[in-house]
Amino acid sequence: MRTQIRNARRLVVKVGSALVTNNGEGLDISALADWARQIAALRAEGREIVLVSSGAIAAGMQRLGWATRPQEMHQLQAAAAVGQMGLAQAYESVFSQNGLHTAQILLTHEDLADRTRYLNARSTLITLLELGVVPIINENDTVVTDEIKFGDNDTLGALVANLIDAEGLIILTDQKGLYTADPRQDPNATLISADRAENTALEAMAGGAGTGISKGGMITKVRAAQRAARSGAHTCIASGRESNPLLRVAAGEDIGTLLYASSTPLAARKQWLADHLQLAGSLTLDAGAIEALHSGKSLLPIGITAAEGDFPRGSVVACRDAHGKEIARGLVNYAANDTRRILRHSSAEIEAILGFVEEPELIHRDNLVVLG
Ligand code: GLU
Repeated sequence: MRTQIRNARRLVVKVGSALVTNNGEGLDISALADWARQIAALRAEGREIVLVSSGAIAAGMQRLGWATRPQEMHQLQAAAAVGQMGLAQAYESVFSQNGLHTAQILLTHEDLADRTRYLNARSTLITLLELGVVPIINENDTVVTDEIKFGDNDTLGALVANLIDAEGLIILTDQKGLYTADPRQDPNATLISADRAENTALEAMAGGAGTGISKGGMITKVRAAQRAARSGAHTCIASGRESNPLLRVAAGEDIGTLLYASSTPLAARKQWLADHLQLAGSLTLDAGAIEALHSGKSLLPIGITAAEGDFPRGSVVACRDAHGKEIARGLVNYAANDTRRILRHSSAEIEAILGFVEEPELIHRDNLVVLG
């Protein structure tokens, strides 16, 4: 018996395109109805559920009669716009049969990167949950380009779990869970029942990206679990083709793969920093600065050897070691040009160089999150 998800009061459930559209055949209404019934039962137990559903592009392609996924962005966006209508309509209908209202929320990366919009999204979601409504979230595919996309809904599911402080994330997929190796290629591969989400060996086991109708594959699910674990959420990856998967996972039954959070959750503001998918620039740190960060100190200009990018003051930037590995990130107190002028100098010299001082630190420790 797994207690982690059994005890979770607030859960994010993510369902992938392959399940939603029955491998691209069109919306699988009976699958949607089945999830709605299970979610209604979980709500009746006093749990709060947010659903992250993919399937807009696949459903749109089917409605438009397209057999193959188009390459061009504007065609994908058009398909998503068509498909999202069908998705919303179908969910509203299956949930209303269970006496529940749904709410559609389409998010972009920018919505979560901007602190005010992030807090707005959070309070709206929490209000909807208090009202007993089931929020249904997807990426706002119609307005985002490749560079600014979440990319896949596994990542979005984890970011939503962090956004609303969910205790659990259930990812339903068309596989039984995470295997020690790719089961399609290795006959000795075995299903992993449970592991620490932070175990770095998991990524190698998860193998490559998804194919066909699924965007993510196992690797994005493992990374999503790692991301969710930073706010203390436990993730279960399970097959949506089993009977009652949501009820069974939530009851703590040993199905699928549980990737549990084992480290102390990050504080809310640091969580928001860690969840940025795109950064405005990057700073290269010397060994002394890296040591200072690891002992909880602020980042000073003297410890910086280079600054890349063209970022304004207040941007979120990466802090890298000499090999380019990101070890921390934070909100920078000086714009890129000014940073380049003061790097390698002591804080006492800032005024003489720039003619003004914002702060003695380049990044204050309260605005900094150390990643590894
Ligand atoms: N947002 C995309 C859609 O709804 C899918 C992304 C994914 O499958 O991960 O079609």
